[in-house]
Amino acid sequence: MCISDRLLDSTRRFAREVLAPTYRPMDTSPPVFEHGRVRVHPAMRSLYANMVDLGLLTATRPPDVGGQQLPLTVHAVSSAYLMAANLSAYGYLGLTLGAAHLLEVFGTPWLREQFMAPLYRGEWTGTMALTEPQAGSSLADVKTRATPAPEGGYRLQGSKIFISGGDQDFTDNIVHLTLARIDGAEGGTRGVSLFAVPARRPEGGKLVPNDVQVAGVIHKIGWRGLPSLVLNFGEADDCHGWLVGQPGRGLACMFQMMNEARIMVGLNGVATASVAYQESLGYARERPQGRPAGIRDTARAQAPIIEHADVRRMLLRQKAIVEGGLALLLATSTQADLANHAPDEAARQRAHLLLDLLTPIAKTFPAEKGFESNALALQIHGGYGYSSEYLPEAWLRDQKLNSIHEGTTGIQGLDLLGRKAVAGGGAALQALDEEVRATTARARAAGVEPAWSDALEDALQQATSLTLELGARGMAGEVDSMLRHSADFLELFSVVAVAWRWLAQAAAAKEALGRNAAGDARFYEGKLAAAQYWFAVEVPRVPLLAHLCRTGEDSYARMHPDGF
Ligand SMILES: Cc1cc2nc3c(=O)[nH]c(=O)nc-3n(C[C@H](O)[C@H](O)[C@H](O)COP(=O)(O)OP(=O)(O)OC[C@H]3O[C@@H](n4cnc5c(N)ncnc54)[C@H](O)[C@@H]3O)c2cc1C
Repeated sequence: MCISDRLLDSTRRFAREVLAPTYRPMDTSPPVFEHGRVRVHPAMRSLYANMVDLGLLTATRPPDVGGQQLPLTVHAVSSAYLMAANLSAYGYLGLTLGAAHLLEVFGTPWLREQFMAPLYRGEWTGTMALTEPQAGSSLADVKTRATPAPEGGYRLQGSKIFISGGDQDFTDNIVHLTLARIDGAEGGTRGVSLFAVPARRPEGGKLVPNDVQVAGVIHKIGWRGLPSLVLNFGEADDCHGWLVGQPGRGLACMFQMMNEARIMVGLNGVATASVAYQESLGYARERPQGRPAGIRDTARAQAPIIEHADVRRMLLRQKAIVEGGLALLLATSTQADLANHAPDEAARQRAHLLLDLLTPIAKTFPAEKGFESNALALQIHGGYGYSSEYLPEAWLRDQKLNSIHEGTTGIQGLDLLGRKAVAGGGAALQALDEEVRATTARARAAGVEPAWSDALEDALQQATSLTLELGARGMAGEVDSMLRHSADFLELFSVVAVAWRWLAQAAAAKEALGRNAAGDARFYEGKLAAAQYWFAVEVPRVPLLAHLCRTGEDSYARMHPDGF
């Protein structure tokens, strides 16, 4: 067994056998705030150590920081198992990984040794401390201050909100990767710098408190095993921070890591929809209720609800969203791998463009459609789904966060249309077109329904010409008219991107059936049915979405705030 297979195998087993049983207890016993400290579920101590032992913290990293250089794509699938089993528990690991990675790329040798190394070893955890009450989507408005200290370094003062994993009681220390403004820095994004701010700082060979105070716990509807906190820095003017990267480049450092962070949020969405889909599938196979249409004889045994057409509709929609979303995430992760490791520069640049283009879609589609998918899983459970005795309601609560953190859906739409789709003068779309044409060629050769390939090529063509048209509008200064329907634009691209991944799965299924993969025939037929569904139900929505973007339909835009 190769190293990637071993990681997949061990994470799958750990997720099923160890992590999943802790999900409900952590959901029902959220962290408590006592005497200025946060106490999390006692299971987290051993769970965190176990997750570290799986090797996920360093799996994709180079050997000089203890890593194995595995592809991000392998890491993504392994992580998805853990996320599906217990999203909150995975949250600590994901945040730590992000913080350590930032220090690895932008930290000085001292920062790497002092802070990054214990994070990668799993001895400490990390956070991302960006958000402030007035600076959520608008990080240009960050106010936390960093004042150069006489002894070197900086003293921080300010307040952050919603900081996940901002305190816990299962490791000795926490490193907060914090955005702050150095005294005298210019306003806006270019005045924002990044600092490493430990909860306890190294001093005289030991760790001493660093004046980071928990000011409150957010009472959340989901992710209830992971505390999200209000943190105050420097109440006693004794909060030391270390600059990471160049002054004024804080957001640039963060954004350099943003693609991977957003891929992880997309995976959260897929995993949360997936576990609910599997649960509702099991329920539908076993729950007897009613009889097939046209049969009124109550002497006849009731049928399992999976026999009813409408329940099948809800199952197939979930399958199309979950497996389409997963395939999109894997395609995006593959571009991230190529962007970092392709042998020649041109290939790396092309992958970068594709990665940038796909990331807002891969982040948003599983969050938005995943929420719908989670609601369908609940619906299949009928009244029982609405009860907290059953898990679908908990996954629905968890899922909602994914359209909010790491940039809301509104922000992703602006990013896709305002930046990523028009990048490189159309080069990103050109690269996507080449990828799509390779897939349609493969699908036609495999004997997949030809109308699907035609429809995909046509939909991408519509998306491309729409982008050029809207881009020209922006160049002409009509920014409002360009961006008004950015959410619809994002949805349009999501439909097209997922159609691309469903066509690829259909081609693989046809090829496998052609090879007489008899034992797995049902699996491949299921793939073809889900692809058929996507092309019948979703792809025909592309012209409507394009029409909205193009005409700039203005019902909500021109409405006076008092008119709502
Ligand atoms: C449970 C949880 C955990 C979190 N964890 C962390 C964490 O660990 N670290 C951290 O730093 N932050 C964290 N956050 C904060 C999160 O990233 C922010 O909530 C998010 O960025 C949105 O900011 P906001 O809440 O201030 O909403 P706002 O920015 O006020 O947005 C409100 C609404 O207005 C829309 N909107 C805002 N600006 C625009 C615009 N220019 N154009 C169009 N629409 C716009 C948004 O899309 C949204 O629908 C967490 C949040 C939650 C709820």
